[in-house]
Amino acid sequence: VPYSFSDHGLLDDRPFVDGKWLRLPDRKTFPVEDPSDQQNLAHVSDCDASEYDKAIVIAHKAFASYKNLAPRTRGDLLRRWSQQVSNSRNDLAAVCTLELGKTFKESLGAVDYAVRCLTWFANLAEEGCGGETIPNSNPGGKTRIFTIRQPVGVVCAITPWNSPYSGVLKKIAPALAVGCTVVHKPAPETSLCAIALAKTFDRAGFAPGVYNMLTCAPEKAAAIGDLFCSHHLVRHVTFTGSTAVGRYLAQRCGANLKKMTMELGGNAPFLVFADADLDVAVKSLLACKFTSAGQVCIYANRVLVEEQIQDQFVSKLLEAITQNIRLGSPWDDKSTLGPLYSVKGAGKIQRLLKDALNKGARLLTPDTYKDGSAFYPPTLLVDTRSEMQITQEEIFGPVVGVSTFKTEDEAIQLANDVNSGLAGYVFTENVSRLFRVAEALQVGMVGARTGSISAVEQPFGGIKDSGLGREGSRHALEEYTDLKAITLAL
Ligand code: ADP
Repeated sequence: VPYSFSDHGLLDDRPFVDGKWLRLPDRKTFPVEDPSDQQNLAHVSDCDASEYDKAIVIAHKAFASYKNLAPRTRGDLLRRWSQQVSNSRNDLAAVCTLELGKTFKESLGAVDYAVRCLTWFANLAEEGCGGETIPNSNPGGKTRIFTIRQPVGVVCAITPWNSPYSGVLKKIAPALAVGCTVVHKPAPETSLCAIALAKTFDRAGFAPGVYNMLTCAPEKAAAIGDLFCSHHLVRHVTFTGSTAVGRYLAQRCGANLKKMTMELGGNAPFLVFADADLDVAVKSLLACKFTSAGQVCIYANRVLVEEQIQDQFVSKLLEAITQNIRLGSPWDDKSTLGPLYSVKGAGKIQRLLKDALNKGARLLTPDTYKDGSAFYPPTLLVDTRSEMQITQEEIFGPVVGVSTFKTEDEAIQLANDVNSGLAGYVFTENVSRLFRVAEALQVGMVGARTGSISAVEQPFGGIKDSGLGREGSRHALEEYTDLKAITLAL
C-alpha cells in the first residue's frame, strides 16, 4: 500500500466498551479484506450477543449521568471529537480507502464530511431542544401546558459499509447531542473504519460507556439485531441498510414498542426534460452515479429522458464518461473510480446487466468486467425498460441505464412506479415544471437541477419502502428524544 500511517494507535482489532478496549475471552475473530486485491487486512473481534448485552447495560448506566450534562458541555465534547477526527484526517481516509476501496481523494472528502456532522450536531447540542407553552383552551382555564424534549435513553445503531464515517456519525452525533448513550454494531466489511473512528472518540474526553462499538462477523448480525430490538434497556434502534433487513427489524421494534429510524434502499429516478440544461444534467449524473463507485443509496438508479433529446443526451453522457471516469487503483491520483466494496457487489451488477441485455438493452461503453475482480468499469446502457431487474433493483455500482418518456405525466408515473421512495432528481429550466415534478415525486429528497444533495443540514430519509424517520438537520434530534407535556396549575 502506498501509504504509511502516522498514527498506528488508530488501528486495532478490539471492541470498545465502557471506555476500554476489551480482549474477548475466547479471542474469536473474523477477517477483513482489501477489495482491490482481496488480501486479508486484519482479523477483528467477533463479538457475540452476550458482549453486546453487557454493552447495553453499561450504556444504560452511563446514561444516568450523561443525560444530565449541560447541553454546552455535550456540544464541547462533540467539538473535541470533531477535532480528533480532523487531526487524523489522512490516516482515517487511508483506512477507508484500504477497506472500502474508495479513492483516497474521496476518502479525504468522507472524513471532512464526518467532521461537519460532528460540528453541526455540536452546535445543535448547545442550542438544545426547546419546547412550547400552550394556553389552556377552556374558558377561564387555570392551567398552562409546557412541553420539553428528553433523551430517549440507550440507542442501538446498526450501520452499513458504504458510508463508514458520516453514515455512522449521522446516527451517533445527534444521539449524543441530546444526551442519549449508544451501542453500535458496524458493518463487518468496514470494521477497521469503525474501530479507527471509535479511537478518535476515545481521545475526545467523554465519560466511559457513552459510546460503545463492537464488531461482529456477518453471521452474527441477525442475533445482534434481535437483541437490540428486544432488550428492555434499549429505547431506540437506528438502522441503515437493505429494505429486507429493515422491514424485519421494524417488525421486531414494533412488537416491543421501541422507537426506530430506518434508512433503507432507494431506486432514484433521474428525470431529464427536453428543456433542461443538458450539460448541467450530465455533470450532475456523473456526480450521483460514479462517486463512491455508485454505492450510495440516494444515487440515480433510473435515468429517464424526454424522447426527443435522448440521442443528444446520451452522446454527451458517453463523452463525459469517457473523458472523466478513470477506473484504477484507489491510491492513484488519476483514478476517479476505484473498486467496489467487494467482489460480491460486482456479481450482483453482472446479474442485472445480463438480464438487461437479454431483454433488449444496448450497451454503449466498450470495457467489460473481468470475473473475480471488484473493479467494475463505467457502463452505459440504453433502452432499459420497467420489466428489467436493473430498473427494479438498486444497482449500487457505476452503471447507468437510460430510458425515455414522452410527457410530463408519463415521467412522473414511471418515476413513482417502484416501491422505494428515497431520492429523486429532476432537470428542467421551466421553474413551474420543476416545482410540479418535485412535489409529485414520491420520495423523501429531491435534487432539483442538481445531483449533489448530501449535506448534514439536509433532512435525510425516505418514504414508502425506503424507511421511517429522518437523519441530519435538526429533525434528527426529534428521533432521539421523547416529548413530555407538563401541565401547570396557575
Ligand atoms: P447491505 O446489503 O448494504 O450490506 P444489509 O442490510 O445486509 O445491507 O446490512 C446493513 C447492516 O445490517 C450491516 O451492519 C449488516 O451486518 C447488518 N445486518 C444484516 N442482516 C441483519 C439482520 N438480520 N439483523 C440485523 N442487522 C443485520
